[in-house]
Amino acid sequence: MKTINDFNFENKKALIRVDFNVPLNDAFEVTDITRIEAAKPTIIKILEDGGSCVLMSHLGRPKGVEERYSLKHIVDAVTEVLGVQVKFVDDCVGAKAEEAVANLESGEVLLLENLRFYPEETAGDVGFAERLSKLGDIYVNDAFGTAHRAHASTTIVAQFFPNNKCFGSLLAKEIESIDKVLNNSEKPVTAILGGAKVSSKIGIVENIIEKVDHIIIGGGMTFTFIKALGGKIGNSLVEDDKLQLALDILKLAKEKNTEIHLPVDVVIADAFSNDANTQIVDTNEIPDGWMGLDCGPKTSEKFAEVIAKSKTILWNGPLGVFEMENFAKGTIELGNAIAEATEKGAFSLVGGGDSVAAVKQFGFADKVSYVSTGGGAMLESLEGKTLPGIEAIIK
Ligand code: AMP
Repeated sequence: MKTINDFNFENKKALIRVDFNVPLNDAFEVTDITRIEAAKPTIIKILEDGGSCVLMSHLGRPKGVEERYSLKHIVDAVTEVLGVQVKFVDDCVGAKAEEAVANLESGEVLLLENLRFYPEETAGDVGFAERLSKLGDIYVNDAFGTAHRAHASTTIVAQFFPNNKCFGSLLAKEIESIDKVLNNSEKPVTAILGGAKVSSKIGIVENIIEKVDHIIIGGGMTFTFIKALGGKIGNSLVEDDKLQLALDILKLAKEKNTEIHLPVDVVIADAFSNDANTQIVDTNEIPDGWMGLDCGPKTSEKFAEVIAKSKTILWNGPLGVFEMENFAKGTIELGNAIAEATEKGAFSLVGGGDSVAAVKQFGFADKVSYVSTGGGAMLESLEGKTLPGIEAIIK
């Protein structure tokens, strides 16, 4: 696995795929610089080597050229984060872009226009990738968020750099973290799967069930398991076509000696609203007209005990409807337990969608070992799939 540390970039132009798909407000100002900061170590290492950086990214989902998705809007934010004046060219291929690259000197940074202004980008067009490849000596992929896409800039372009391609430090860290959890993990390993539906997590369960010692299940998917086991779930979220699947998972876990932990009590509400009436009941005794929206205190305690003895922890998905204050407690308590275990030496990885939002919202981001930057890419990695953007660098 080649990373930027295997290259000396002196007098080289690095063509770097970054993920600068950042949120903008109505005045086109960047409202969250996390993704720009995440790419900084790679860019700085290359500049310090005496090289220059050509940054390419997408922003949003434009249909052709759409001014509001121009990457020119983020030049100031990138300049501020890097501490280096960033140059911009309003195309990402062709004569204008090639000229801007030719004029680039060591220590300088050039940002190309939005790759998705060309439909060839998402189509993975080889000709377009070849045009991109003219814009650098070494190809660096540092965009984990798009590594599961076989787009021109994330995957196809790599073939034009047979010996000069590598991972940036962000992408390398993502790969290492997943490996540390799934393949080179210190036992016991605990995976916490929450979120809304069993159907969106089944791929993960199937891939990890043999690799982990404990699986904690929470969130909306709880009730498909509880119903399958014969419990009363009232009006809770359920996937009736996944009841057998839930039983199959429990059976498989038993065969593989993996312990599955389900909530024993839940916070129920008489409406899907923060203002609803609530009570705490046993998970399998939810009255009609009520729905489970968070796990209860006994469950939090039980989950915390499992987490406290874990040496490796993977967290994907909230344990309740954390967006509503009254149903956030289970998710917060879980975050506390993971933070404590991490402090005592466990390795904890938080990844995939809403758990990342929860971790940031409740201030746990600095208290876990690693927070992944890629939603879909993380999910596919946890499902055991080889991501095309990663494969293209390795092969
Ligand atoms: P996912 O994207 O699959 O991780 O699902 C995250 C969503 O699941 C969040 O928006 C939560 O509000 C939601 N969720 C968590 N617990 C429940 C629950 N008990 N009932 C309904 N939705 C839930």
